[in-house]
Amino acid sequence: QNTGTRSPATTPTHCPYCALQCGMNLTPVGGGTVEVSERADFPVNRGALCGKGRTAAQVLAPGVRLTSPLVRSQGGALVPAGWDEALDRIAGSLGRTRARYGADALGVFGGGGLTNEKAYALGKFARVVLGTSQIDYNGRFCMSSAAAAGTRAFGLDRGLPFPLEDVPRTGCVILVGSNPAETMPPSLRYFTELRENGGTLVVVDPRRTRTAEQADLHLAPRPGTDLALALGLLHLVVAEGRVDEAYVEERTSGWEEARAAAMAHWPEHVERITGVSVPELREAVRLFCAPEAAMVLTARGPEQQAKGTDTVGAWINLCLATGRAGRPLSGYGCLTGQGNGQGGREHGQKADQLPGYRRLTDPAARRHVAEVWGVDPDALPGPGRSAYELLDALGSDVRSLLVMGSNPVVSAPRAAHVEERLRSLDFLAVCDVVLSETARLADVVLPVTQWAEETGTTTNLEGRVLLRRRAVTPPEGVRGDLEVLHALAGRLGVEKGFPVDPEEVFEELRRASAGGPADYSGIDYRRLAREDGVFWPCPAPPPHGGPALRAAVTPPPAAGDTAPRADTAPRPDTAAPGAEDAAAPYPGAPTPAAGGTAPHPGTPRLFLDRFATPDGRARFVPVAHRPSAEEPDEEYPVLLTTGRVVAQYQSGAQTRRVAELNAAAPGPFVELHPRLAARLGAAEGDPLAVVSRRGRAVAPARITTGIRPDTVFMPFHWPGEGRANTLTNPALDPDSRMPEFKVCAVRVEAVPR
Ligand code: SF4
Repeated sequence: QNTGTRSPATTPTHCPYCALQCGMNLTPVGGGTVEVSERADFPVNRGALCGKGRTAAQVLAPGVRLTSPLVRSQGGALVPAGWDEALDRIAGSLGRTRARYGADALGVFGGGGLTNEKAYALGKFARVVLGTSQIDYNGRFCMSSAAAAGTRAFGLDRGLPFPLEDVPRTGCVILVGSNPAETMPPSLRYFTELRENGGTLVVVDPRRTRTAEQADLHLAPRPGTDLALALGLLHLVVAEGRVDEAYVEERTSGWEEARAAAMAHWPEHVERITGVSVPELREAVRLFCAPEAAMVLTARGPEQQAKGTDTVGAWINLCLATGRAGRPLSGYGCLTGQGNGQGGREHGQKADQLPGYRRLTDPAARRHVAEVWGVDPDALPGPGRSAYELLDALGSDVRSLLVMGSNPVVSAPRAAHVEERLRSLDFLAVCDVVLSETARLADVVLPVTQWAEETGTTTNLEGRVLLRRRAVTPPEGVRGDLEVLHALAGRLGVEKGFPVDPEEVFEELRRASAGGPADYSGIDYRRLAREDGVFWPCPAPPPHGGPALRAAVTPPPAAGDTAPRADTAPRPDTAAPGAEDAAAPYPGAPTPAAGGTAPHPGTPRLFLDRFATPDGRARFVPVAHRPSAEEPDEEYPVLLTTGRVVAQYQSGAQTRRVAELNAAAPGPFVELHPRLAARLGAAEGDPLAVVSRRGRAVAPARITTGIRPDTVFMPFHWPGEGRANTLTNPALDPDSRMPEFKVCAVRVEAVPR
C-alpha cells in the first residue's frame, strides 16, 4: 500500500530493488502488513516510486517467503529442518570438499543486491574462512564492461561521476542502451526536466522504447553495432572541426591513435554496419556538440557485449574529444542496474578485488587488507574465475557452491547449461528470502532476512552511500546473512572476525577501504542517519588532530555555468605541501590538508580538475568495430536482444510473487516487427519458438513497429519454457568477462497451437 502518510512508527529507508535506491517510508500497521509511503525528503526520487517499490513490502509476508531452513532428504525432497542441522550440513560438506579437493573446489556466488556489509563479509569469508579464490557475483553480468572502460580511461570507475541532479542542467544527453522509463521510472523526470530546460535527449536503442519515445532523436542501430555508431559520430566530430583541441591537449593522452581509429570508420561505412543513416549521425553530432555541456550515459545495451569494454570506450572517446568529461554538467556515466550494483563491486565479492575497490593483485592492497583482517597477506588467494566461468566450472573444478542473493538459473547466460552445472555439484547451499529456481536445486536452503528487516548500507548509482534502516521485525525462523556467515565461520574453525552487527561490519569495512579508490573511511552510520547519503571517496580525518580535510566537494554549478569553478579541489600542484600523502585514494583525490579534523564532505563530482590516472589525464583508447560473437546466418537469421519490463525486477524471484506486478507483466513474450511476423504467419499472441545454438524458448508474439525487422526482443524475468537466457550467448568480453547477453543469432518459428 502507499498511503503517503507518516506515523510515529514510520521508518525512512530505501527500496530493495534497483540502483536508484529510492527513499520510502515503511510503517507496520498490524497483522503483518507493512505500508509503503512516499518519502519526499529524499532528493533522488523526491517521493516518486515505481510499482515494484510500492509493492515491495508484500514480499515480507510469511506466506510469500521462506521461514524455515530446508534440507534435501534421502528421498530427494527439500524438507524443513532446524538451523543447527542446516548449518552443520553446510559446514560439514564444505569442509569435506576442501579436505578432498582443495580450497579452490569451493565456490561462492554473491549478488549485487547484497548490502555493502554483506558483500564485504562474503568476500572475507571466501578468502579467510574457505581460503578459496573462487568467488564472484551476479554484478559481473550487470555493469562490468562500463567499470572496465571507466577504469581504463579515467583511472577510476564510479557509475555516475556526478549526481543525477546535474542531468537536467546539461545541454544534451545521449542515452545508450538504456531504458529508464521501464527500469527506473522515477529517474525519467531528470530527462523530462532536461528537455523542459531546453536541453535535448538522444536515445540509442534498437527498440523504440518508452524512453526512446520521449527523445528528440532516436537512433536504432542493429544490435551489437553501437561501437561502430560511436566511431561514426567521432569521425564526424573530427571531420566537422568540432574537436575541443585545447581540452584534448591539456587533459587527455592517446588522442592521435584514437583519432586515427575513428577516421577509418567513414559515416557511409558506419551506416552500412549500423543501419543508422548518415543524416541521423550528423544530427546526433549537432545535438551533442551544440551546447557547452553534454553527457553520455550507458546501460546494459552497449555493456553486455563480448566487446562491451571497447564499446563503452568508444563512447568515452567521443566525450573526451569534445571536452565532455571532468567538466561541470558534462561527463560519461553508467546507469547501474542492481540495488547495490555499485557498492557490491567495491568491497570484495568480485573475483579480482579487495575492499575499497582495491586490486587483489596489488601487493600493497593485500598487505593493507590482510592487516585489517589479521591474516598473513601471502595466505590470501589470488584472483578467481569470473561469474560465468565460475558457473561453467561447477561440477568439475568447483565441487561445492554457496550462493547468496542470486538466482543464476534464470539470470545467467546459457541458462540451461548453468542449471545443468548446478545440478552436477556435489553440494549446493543457497541463502535467499524465497525459494528461487536456484534454491530449488540446493541441498540446503537458508531463509534469510530482507531489506526492511535489517539495517545496512547500499551505494546507489551515483556513488551515494545510503543507510537502509530496519523497519520491521523479521518472522520467526529467519536469520540474517551476517549471522549465517558468523555461524559457518565458527563451524569451520574461525571464531572471530565475523560479527553479526552490521554497524560493526561497516566499521571494519571503513578501515579496510581507507586509502583505497572507494574510500568509505569518513562515513559512519550516525552520519548516514543524518544526511541524504554521502558520496565516496570520503576519507576520514586523520586521528589526533593533524591535517584537516580540504574541501573537495564541488557545489552544484548554476544553470548554464559550464566553466570550471574556482572552488573545486585544488590541483596537486597548488595543494598544500604533503597533501598528496598515502591517504589519497588516487592522485588528485580529496586528501587531508593542514589544519583540523572536520569531516570530509564526500565527493559528488569526480575528475573536475584531474582524472584518477597517474598523470591526471584521461586516456583515449583506440578501438575498432568488430562483429558480435554470433552474427546471423542461414540457420539463425535473426538477432535476439534481451532486457527488462517495468513491472518485474531481474530474475523476478521477488516480483513474480506480487499479484499486482504479475497482473501487469504475467509472462515472457517475443517482441517482433510486423514484417517478420508476416513472414512467419504469426498474429499477436501466437506462440513463437525462438531457437539459438544453446536452446529453445517459447513465448507469445507481441507485434510492434517499434523494433527493427531483423531483431526480436525477449524480457528475461521468467523461468520455464519462456526463459530468455536459455538462448543467450556466454561469449565473454576479454577485459570485463561480461557475457554477450544483448545479441545473439536465433531463428524464430511459429508453434502450432
Ligand atoms: Fe525506485 Fe528502483 Fe525501487 Fe522502482 S525499483 S521504487 S525505481 S529503487
